[in-house]
Amino acid sequence: MNMNKVLSILFLSVLFSITITAQGLKSPKEFLRTEYGKHFTPHYLVADYVRHVAENSDRVTLIEYGQTNENRPLLLATITTKANQQNIGAIQNHHLNKIGLGNGTLESIDKDFAIVWLSFGVHGNEAGGSESSMNVIYEIANPKNQRTGDWLENSVVLFDPSLNPDGYNRYTQWVRGIGGKITHPGHTDREHMEPWPGGRVNHYLFDLNRDWAWQTQVESQQRIAQYAKWMPHIHVDFHEMGYDDGYYFAPAAEPYHKHITDFQRDMQVDIGKNHAKYFDKEGWLYFTREIFDLFYPSYGDTWPLFNGAIGMTHEQAGHGMSGRAIALSNGDTLTIQDRIDHHSQTALSTLEESSKQATRLNENFVKYFSDAVSSPKGTYKSYIIKASEKADRLAELLDKNNIEYYRNADAQSMNGFDYLKGKKSTFRTTPGDVIINANQPNGTLLQVFMEPEPILSDSITYDITAWSLPHAYGVQAYGMDVYTSTRKEDATKEKEKSCFINEVQDAKAYAYVIPWKSVNSAKKLSKLYEKGINVRMAKKKVQFDVGTVSKGSIVIIRGDNYHIKDLSETLSNTIGDCADCICLPTGFSSKGGDIGGSDFERLNHPKTLLISGRGTSPYSVGQIWHYFDEVIGYPLSIVNKDDLGRVDYNDFNTLILPDGYFKFSESEIKDITSFISEGGKVIAIAGALGNFVEKDGYALAKYATDEEKKAAEKHRDAKKLDARNDSYHDQERHGISNSVPGAIIKNDLDLSHPLSFGLGDSYHSLKTSRQRYSLLQDTWNVVTVPKDYKHYGFIGAGLKPKFEETVSFAVEEKGSGSIIYMVDNPLFRGFWDNGLMLFGNALFLVD
Ligand SMILES: [Zn+2]
Repeated sequence: MNMNKVLSILFLSVLFSITITAQGLKSPKEFLRTEYGKHFTPHYLVADYVRHVAENSDRVTLIEYGQTNENRPLLLATITTKANQQNIGAIQNHHLNKIGLGNGTLESIDKDFAIVWLSFGVHGNEAGGSESSMNVIYEIANPKNQRTGDWLENSVVLFDPSLNPDGYNRYTQWVRGIGGKITHPGHTDREHMEPWPGGRVNHYLFDLNRDWAWQTQVESQQRIAQYAKWMPHIHVDFHEMGYDDGYYFAPAAEPYHKHITDFQRDMQVDIGKNHAKYFDKEGWLYFTREIFDLFYPSYGDTWPLFNGAIGMTHEQAGHGMSGRAIALSNGDTLTIQDRIDHHSQTALSTLEESSKQATRLNENFVKYFSDAVSSPKGTYKSYIIKASEKADRLAELLDKNNIEYYRNADAQSMNGFDYLKGKKSTFRTTPGDVIINANQPNGTLLQVFMEPEPILSDSITYDITAWSLPHAYGVQAYGMDVYTSTRKEDATKEKEKSCFINEVQDAKAYAYVIPWKSVNSAKKLSKLYEKGINVRMAKKKVQFDVGTVSKGSIVIIRGDNYHIKDLSETLSNTIGDCADCICLPTGFSSKGGDIGGSDFERLNHPKTLLISGRGTSPYSVGQIWHYFDEVIGYPLSIVNKDDLGRVDYNDFNTLILPDGYFKFSESEIKDITSFISEGGKVIAIAGALGNFVEKDGYALAKYATDEEKKAAEKHRDAKKLDARNDSYHDQERHGISNSVPGAIIKNDLDLSHPLSFGLGDSYHSLKTSRQRYSLLQDTWNVVTVPKDYKHYGFIGAGLKPKFEETVSFAVEEKGSGSIIYMVDNPLFRGFWDNGLMLFGNALFLVD
């Protein structure tokens, strides 16, 4: 290459880079090559655009705070003026210090900042959310936009363009793949018919807008770690709803949770009125206060509310059904551009109102947290959770929600409300108990989690109405009328080692025992199977000289495992710390059967197959998939129902049927029946049970006898006659008398059956469906609802008696196999921890 050529290339590249810089910040329309406003933008381009804004606006800093399961970036932009950016650390710390959650360093910040968090696209197929986010960040970050610049003088905006990139990508990739040049505003085109499982949910098909509190998903875990670093005053969650519904913004509908403050209610009205001002001007349709209540604590509005913020859901008409354009009933057409315009408007108007009310926001925010410390809400002042593996798991959830607790070191007698008995009782504390005092900054969230009887201000809600953590985790817990101030456990105390390490180095044990105590036990068993270790289960409690083997314990006998070279070392590497594992020097018991006898049953290594696809509930499929992949780490094959003909049942011994409304053909039922008779196990959840009701050879029936069935029909007819006098206005209220959006029912257990091992003396089940089945004949009715049962949360008056003496979980043995009926879904949203354990029992312990 000659020198002239080098110079001219150099000149050209300098010129080129000058042009780029001079162009500066581009609008989404200028930046994207994908027809912004007319077509959906792939996630990688949304991310590219946000990066472009961050590089070209001194109002913006950007971090990648994590990744999704499919390795897409999770992005968070911090937006304020250039001057504020230079002082951002101090602004942040000052804000946190005021509510007792900062690092205690005094900062000299002389004005009140409004901290506003904008979240887009938690539901991926509500794609107008992430689409509009690009316009929103452009408007806020554009240095030429004086209006937003003025607001930013006293505001910091935290901006997340896509909370659920995997779901958003699933939807947009699909719709781009099937979209032709011409759109179909008419409703009959595949563009309006999203295929299973849809883009609403994340990789594991979880609804991330039900996961804020439980944080079972990586997106929630990583996001909330960021949220805790800012604790915003305002959180807006941008959604979409039915295409003909206009726009919904705050204030929300009743019921409000009783711990939501007057200020939080008032501020929602102020912000809503500010939105209305702009919507009125444009003639855009909107509504407030009709649906979308504030009760269940795990949404993107309620969880922030219980963290002191003004949490709000904004819903634009749109959703997966809308495609790129859809005809409305009033003759209009709803386009992507409309969806962008409306969301952009409420985002900006939220910022405007927050900036205007920054001082009031700060005063009330500080009061919220200082009230939580000085005069906690709720029935009890502190909580004591008895030390156990399940208590450890509950403590992990407290950590995720930044709720403080300590471990007790004292043994003393106390009196408190016993969650399991439902009344006051005397108990003894023991070292390791989890003690949570409510007088702490995050005390309100704690109270919402722990209250035994949630109070509804109105019974019409579209979600579960009870979630009390002691019942979800199956722990022994007490609510105390006073703060608890026992001695704290020394955190530096060294953990006890497993006997595998301590005792077995010289003398080899005859057998090793791992107690069955929580879903962690299933996780351990999963690892043992991975190593090819053969195991047995203790069917009864058996006494040995060195200790007691409890029911359900996993027993590893040297004589079953000659193929493992160094068993104790393998166990030590596989199981790790296990203070209560037992190493038995002999199989000879002091009370009960010997290790080699019938009290210790060989367990089958499950080879599992799950049915998925059209007709199955994506949530349920996702919960099972996530349970196997992430909770216990165990292999699972998943096959679409339509491909069942290609499955060789001989490759499996466990078939899992998720919730859903799918129907098996006669020949498919025949295959399943012979699979069971030949030794297979079927686990059928909720809606899947419909395939076996009153089927030949299956015990499952809605009513135990013909008389019971006739009585129920007679009752139903009488109700219909009564309903003739109902007024039109009352129809919604009468509808709910037969509904159970989600309530906790205390179930009795057959403690001798392996399905109940380790659950406790009773099992609190989450009931989310009106399906009910009488106690079954020739079947083990293991988990049952007694007469006059205790329940928490809302069950319609008409429905309540119908659950009496029904079965929740049962095992029917057929031929050499079995079918497990799960009337309630124990894996619901993946947060019912004792349910995870119950599912593990069904998978591993039941024959
Ligand atoms: Zn949504």
